[in-house]
Amino acid sequence: MNGKTKKRTSLPQLTKQLMAIDDRLAGCMHCGLCQAVCPVYGVTLKEADVSRGKIVLLENLAYELLKDADGVGEKLDRCLLCGSCRSNCPSGVDTVEIFLHARRLITDYRGLGKIKKTVFRFILPHPGLMSFFVAFSGRFQRFFRRKANKSMGTFEFPILRPFAGKRHFQPLATKSFSAEYGKINTSAGKSGIKVAFFPGCVPDKLFVRIAQASMKAFEKNGVGVFMPGSLVCCGIPNLVSGDYVSFKRLVKTNLGLLKKAEFDYLVSPCATCVSSIKENWFRYRDDFTDDERRQIEEIHGKAMDITAFLIDVLNVEFKTSGSETCKRRVTYHDSCHLKKTLGIYAQPRNILKNLSGLEFVEMPEADRCCGSGGSFTLTQHKLANQIGQRKRNCVVSINPDIVAAACPACMLQLMDMLSQNGDSVEVKHVVELYADSLGR
Ligand code: SF4
Ligand code: SF4
Repeated sequence: MNGKTKKRTSLPQLTKQLMAIDDRLAGCMHCGLCQAVCPVYGVTLKEADVSRGKIVLLENLAYELLKDADGVGEKLDRCLLCGSCRSNCPSGVDTVEIFLHARRLITDYRGLGKIKKTVFRFILPHPGLMSFFVAFSGRFQRFFRRKANKSMGTFEFPILRPFAGKRHFQPLATKSFSAEYGKINTSAGKSGIKVAFFPGCVPDKLFVRIAQASMKAFEKNGVGVFMPGSLVCCGIPNLVSGDYVSFKRLVKTNLGLLKKAEFDYLVSPCATCVSSIKENWFRYRDDFTDDERRQIEEIHGKAMDITAFLIDVLNVEFKTSGSETCKRRVTYHDSCHLKKTLGIYAQPRNILKNLSGLEFVEMPEADRCCGSGGSFTLTQHKLANQIGQRKRNCVVSINPDIVAAACPACMLQLMDMLSQNGDSVEVKHVVELYADSLGR
């Protein structure tokens, strides 16, 4: 055990807590079918990286922790929590739930690192502070960035190398969406529907154009919108790092802000937020007060990804295709959270196939993970890059003008991978392309 390790839970306590997942571990028959779909194993070919290997590790966790607690944490961190193994498991083992639970136990045992503690407990819960950082970084970014790929308009930030390697980013926003719009409360129009809009941290602070496109889609379809000015993160970064305390605090803050509002659906353009709200908030609902649990159950039924909302609820109509002779080729990347967690894959394709001026082309391995996985790209940068290269090769193999996605985290990874290879492919959210088709 190195000096960084800080025990918060004793080993006997931990062993007792582990018994809670014993029956779920026993569901694994060690068939190894998860190997074929695991993006991490696909690169490393190491048994320890696939879910079967991790399950074996967890079966002997108490012993392994005594041997090398930090090593156990590192092995569990080499996972994108993409759910590919879960959706391909013949025994129906909920690997994602098992790994989340294990990360929580291990964080309780080892403690949380200083950087994560600061971000999760002091920055994420304070949207005002986040907006200040966005405004500050956006204003002074020109002093810290270097042009990376001219045709894609991306930059490298050498100052971020210790955390993010040589990633390529789009320019930072100078004002967050929530700082620009403040509180929103508009009445339902011709649709008779009102939504609570949950933009998500990346569309709020980085890809502001996605949040703006969502607002345009609501407005043009006569959908009323409610957005309290200060929604906080959905909590997924905290949960995947095992910091359940701050995850719960963020959920409680969001529940408080949404409590008195009346809305038919809660809609987000971020697949990760929707899956976190529908799956993770709901999974841990019994740890909240009775009122909060009821609210979580209600939101669970109302939370929707924006592409599913446009197709399944609004049943939007598309302008019939004109006589364009020169259509732009668009392909689509399935976010793991959208397809594997929420089962949504037809709706975004339906939109793209019906937009005039676009020719939809399916890429190979469209639903293979892009290697993003939130903080995975920061903690496992080399692996994330290797996984992302395979996705980039699939994208460029069909020579598209645009690659569309419905998850801003995937968009960051796609943009980085394409830009680093000197490609020139636009990376767009499906709702942006839809909003473009609506005119002014
Ligand atoms: S596919 Fe499922 S049952 Fe088979 S080894 Fe992987 S987790 Fe276990
Ligand atoms: S969740 Fe994804 S990365 Fe993690 S073990 Fe399963 S397939 Fe591999």
